[in-house]
Amino acid sequence: MSQLTKKSVFRKTVPLSWQIAIALILSIIVGILCGAGNPHPNLITTINNLAIPCNLVLKALRALATPLILLAVLHGFLTVDIPGRSGRKLVMLLLTNTVVAIAIGLLVANVLQPGRWWRVESLVATPTNKTLDPWALLQEMIPPSILQPLVDNNVIQLVFVALAFGVVLRAIKTEQIAQGKEDYRPIEQVITMLFEAVMAVLKWVIALVPLAVFGIVAKTIALQGFKPFLSLAAFIIAVLLALSLQAIYYTTRVKYGSWVSPQQFISGSSDALFTAFSTASSTATMPVTFRALMQKIGLRESSASLGALVGSNFNNDGTALYEAMSALFVGQLLGLHLNLPQQLMVVLTSIVASVGAAGIPEAGLVTMTLVFTAVGLPTQYIALLITVDWFLDRCRTAINVMGDMTISCLLDGHKQHIEAMDLPEGVKLTDEPI
Ligand code: ASP
Repeated sequence: MSQLTKKSVFRKTVPLSWQIAIALILSIIVGILCGAGNPHPNLITTINNLAIPCNLVLKALRALATPLILLAVLHGFLTVDIPGRSGRKLVMLLLTNTVVAIAIGLLVANVLQPGRWWRVESLVATPTNKTLDPWALLQEMIPPSILQPLVDNNVIQLVFVALAFGVVLRAIKTEQIAQGKEDYRPIEQVITMLFEAVMAVLKWVIALVPLAVFGIVAKTIALQGFKPFLSLAAFIIAVLLALSLQAIYYTTRVKYGSWVSPQQFISGSSDALFTAFSTASSTATMPVTFRALMQKIGLRESSASLGALVGSNFNNDGTALYEAMSALFVGQLLGLHLNLPQQLMVVLTSIVASVGAAGIPEAGLVTMTLVFTAVGLPTQYIALLITVDWFLDRCRTAINVMGDMTISCLLDGHKQHIEAMDLPEGVKLTDEPI
């Protein structure tokens, strides 16, 4: 069997999480062999070079972040059908839930301060001087050229461009459909193809994550010992707590905002939540989410499809919460205090980043680079988070899916529609990931 075939078989048969677990074990062994905090001076250059794969992966993620958000927004505007009245309600619900998620994330990170449990003295950064000046923000909102936000990784300008073109393209499509024209199709196909292409390249980058984890963990252990990982343990605890609070918020919201009882909601959503946890992809979970909403909970088809389809495109509360917490955590780890305006900037960019994060594994890691850039945090510290992201990604994906299901229940209202239990004709549900 050739080298190449062996490699692809390994990638096909060994799930990414296992590859990362193996990389972690190997990196601990190498880190200990290299000195575990007391490296031999002759080894320092070699040890530092271990970070190269991780730096390359981060660079690639940064480069992909802006096209991913731009294309995700354009693709969403062009392809998702939202009926007028439910549309407004839907946008309000999406926004409230995301803001609550970020508020919970920031609250937990500010109260528990996971980055300060075991401060790592050797990690220092120059203080960030980015503050929030609303007038400057307003003036900066319009980029000097259309392509500039893609070059500068400026998330606010990017969203401005994406929204402007998204709204206009949608309006043109609607007008053409009304006139029986189909001129919009080629542009829709180009955008869909480019979106798929960015996701495919992203998959290649993600395939390198185990190598990146190996290098960065081995380097960190060799140079600094195990102390930085104690901080990560605190971070994991804080994120799990915040995600649990968000789950409680959803259940309460469903209880008071719809006819679905908390018991029905929890037992009806269990299949979808387990699938989300095991695939780390809300898009792959979508058919299971839709079926759970229709068959297990018994919602109307319109509410189930709006929540599941639109939700898996735009609604990523777990991701928003995680990105906000990560920014605060890294700030704390570096001894940088993010003041209120900066935290507001985190809120703003996390909302955008979560909308742009596609429903695929590790997408949150890509858009996180934009949140960090916006508040002036060094993006190289995302490397530390890569080591735990394979697990936290699964947890936040489950919350993303629970968020979509919550939206569907709220759209269904206070009155149950009995006929909803029967699947409408033509709706075929399958377990196959889309
Ligand atoms: N994996 C998440 C999802 O599919 C996105 C993320 O990485 O946060 O919803």
